Amino acid sequence: MDCDVCSLYSYDPDTETLSLAATQGLPARSIGRVSMKRSEGLVGLVVDKAGPVVAEDALAHERFKFFPELAEEKYHSFLAVPVGDPDNLLGVLAVQTRRRRRFVEQDERLLTSVAGHIRATMVNAHLSERLQREEKERDRYRREMVDAIQRLKVYEASRPREASADEEDGDARLRFSGLGASPGFGIGPAHCLLPQVGLDDVPLRTVSDPIAEQQRFDVAMRASVEEVENARERMRKLVPEVGGAIYEALRMIIEDKSLSTRVAEEIGAGLAAESALAAVIKEYAERFERMSDPYLKERAVDVRDVGQRILRHLLGVEQEDEPRQITEDAVLVASELTLTDFSTVDPSKLRAIVTESGGTTSHAAILAKSLEIPTVVGCEGLLARCCEGDDVIADGNTGTVYVRPSQDVLAEYVRLKDEYVNFQRELEDIRDLPAETLDGHRVGLMANVGLLGELDFVDRYGAEGIGLYRTELSFLSYRDFPSEEEQLSLYRKIIKRMDGRPITIRTLDLGADKYPAYMGGHKEQNPFLGWRSIRVSLELESLFKEQLRAILCAGADASVRIMFPMITSVEEIRRVREIYAECVADLSAEGQPPSADVELGVMMEVPAAVMRASQIVREVDFVSIGTNDLIQYILAVDRDNRKIAPMYEPLHPAVLQAIHAIVEAAHDAGRRVGMCGEMAGNPLFTLFLVGVGLDELSMGSQYIPVVKKLIRGIEVSMARRIAADLLRFDTVEEIKGYMFMCLRQHNLIELVEAFS
Ligand code: PEP
Ligand code: MG
Repeated sequence: MDCDVCSLYSYDPDTETLSLAATQGLPARSIGRVSMKRSEGLVGLVVDKAGPVVAEDALAHERFKFFPELAEEKYHSFLAVPVGDPDNLLGVLAVQTRRRRRFVEQDERLLTSVAGHIRATMVNAHLSERLQREEKERDRYRREMVDAIQRLKVYEASRPREASADEEDGDARLRFSGLGASPGFGIGPAHCLLPQVGLDDVPLRTVSDPIAEQQRFDVAMRASVEEVENARERMRKLVPEVGGAIYEALRMIIEDKSLSTRVAEEIGAGLAAESALAAVIKEYAERFERMSDPYLKERAVDVRDVGQRILRHLLGVEQEDEPRQITEDAVLVASELTLTDFSTVDPSKLRAIVTESGGTTSHAAILAKSLEIPTVVGCEGLLARCCEGDDVIADGNTGTVYVRPSQDVLAEYVRLKDEYVNFQRELEDIRDLPAETLDGHRVGLMANVGLLGELDFVDRYGAEGIGLYRTELSFLSYRDFPSEEEQLSLYRKIIKRMDGRPITIRTLDLGADKYPAYMGGHKEQNPFLGWRSIRVSLELESLFKEQLRAILCAGADASVRIMFPMITSVEEIRRVREIYAECVADLSAEGQPPSADVELGVMMEVPAAVMRASQIVREVDFVSIGTNDLIQYILAVDRDNRKIAPMYEPLHPAVLQAIHAIVEAAHDAGRRVGMCGEMAGNPLFTLFLVGVGLDELSMGSQYIPVVKKLIRGIEVSMARRIAADLLRFDTVEEIKGYMFMCLRQHNLIELVEAFS
């Protein structure tokens, strides 16, 4: 075309910007550097007009814009045409001449034809550029995902699974993986509690004078009762909230007539008192150990504690009345921590407690938690490898214990300990603040309670009310079904303590793992799929009515809601409502009409209820998701079977979908929906649970502060986006990876790792 300059500008419709992409004639260094809005210059005019622009004296044109880098002042004439269609403009092709020249129509046609050829090349270039950008984006995402999954694996590897054997690094340093029973870090020299008299060591011995033997036993019993009473007083002063109640449990075992009657039988049959006691205690402890409810299982420790105590008195082994003097900053190392052990040391001197066996809900662990002593249980073989005075670090958060740690580990733990103390202080500061997101969305944080003793924790951790009161736990401690009066007095105590705050009382969830002796010893092949929960209540209707009447009477002037467990069908809840209506009518006829606004709700914990959620929610005032059962039933994974524990996966896509379906169904019907399974108290899941729309989360009281802290640090809009994304993934790994990525991006990972 006999021109001095030919340039190609590429156009970005998103930013409405043209940039110099190639040129012959203008300074090459300007390529990629010079850009202009479509409102600027003659090149911009081509975009505006969506057609050719011709200027004989470009420098004099009103749209001319001077770009010093282009040094265009020497070029007078200008012709430019668009590349691409008006609705898919790719760029502008321009030519310029030094001498004045009048471009004619033929020039325009020629340049437009060249632009047509360039167009295909530009389309390809744009496409490959976009692909590269997307590929880069995907690559970044993949890297973040891999990184997050990697982090997740490290995190999971550091979690206690089962109490596992120790590892040694050849330098006499030991690391044990147990279970964190009371959070926090404790560092100090070991104080080892070696068992004094072992029940297992008692030989089977017969005697010829059972009467004298029985007298020896009675004396030992009386001494033990007195000893427990003293310890109870001491602990009651020390920890007024729980101390007395916990020792009460020990006293109940000692005073249990059936225990002394069984021992008397064995003595009567010719056994020595020690042998009779050892045999009966073993029998009782095993009975508790066989129960799958972790709380009841751990009552075995209390039974053995009582046995040990009586045995000591039988053998005449002295025990110091006052707590033993131990060095400041000691870490108590014991085989199994019993309440007796607890009363033999001064707890204010304990920096941590570590035990070889025992579970996280033993009474000693509860006491340790209320005294805020970091505790790790289940470190097998610890006593054999740890000597008095050895340096010990106990990490009650992860359940890790170090014996004779290296300087590096020690320094790291000193730092962690300081951080943790500060963090705890921060959590205390938010105790009375609501669980409200940064953009003003409120979530109700409630407590799960099973025993009266736990009510202290409800206050201490700032629960707004009780979201799940498991009535069956107190039923298990009676010798027969508690009468209506006994229940009434129990519920009244709880209602009084809650002082106007809402309480959701769940009717009996007996059966499966919670099976009191007085219900008869019938065995089922699949107890979790058997005669349990609401099925028992509907069959033993008069007992069900007694419970409903007791709840209604106790809650006449209180904010009480009633919840029914394990509902599987609309028929079931309708039958429940009929029985409930009969109770209301009877009470009214008896002159004690119950409050008219008691809300009735159901637990959503069976897949059938999820599938029929839209129908079930319409029959009730509220629902609460019981993930402990729901997960086991959806995944067909026994919640108490350790062998398949890794398959019990709350983040399985099917579980997340089920939660989502329940929330949608409840909200569509205008009902509130909560969650009271363990998932609710794990901060790892909070983002999803808030995002998916749960109105209320009910959990072990101690998890309330951390869940609240997390909620107060996020926006519900962000949580909703994350929940929607999570619901789209197909695998647990993707879900976990994405979850960790989000937690990290929003600086929540430390909070979660410290508490989940
Ligand atoms: C549940 O199943 O999630 C639940 C809260 O009930 P429980 O653990 O008592 O069966
Ligand atoms: Mg359940």
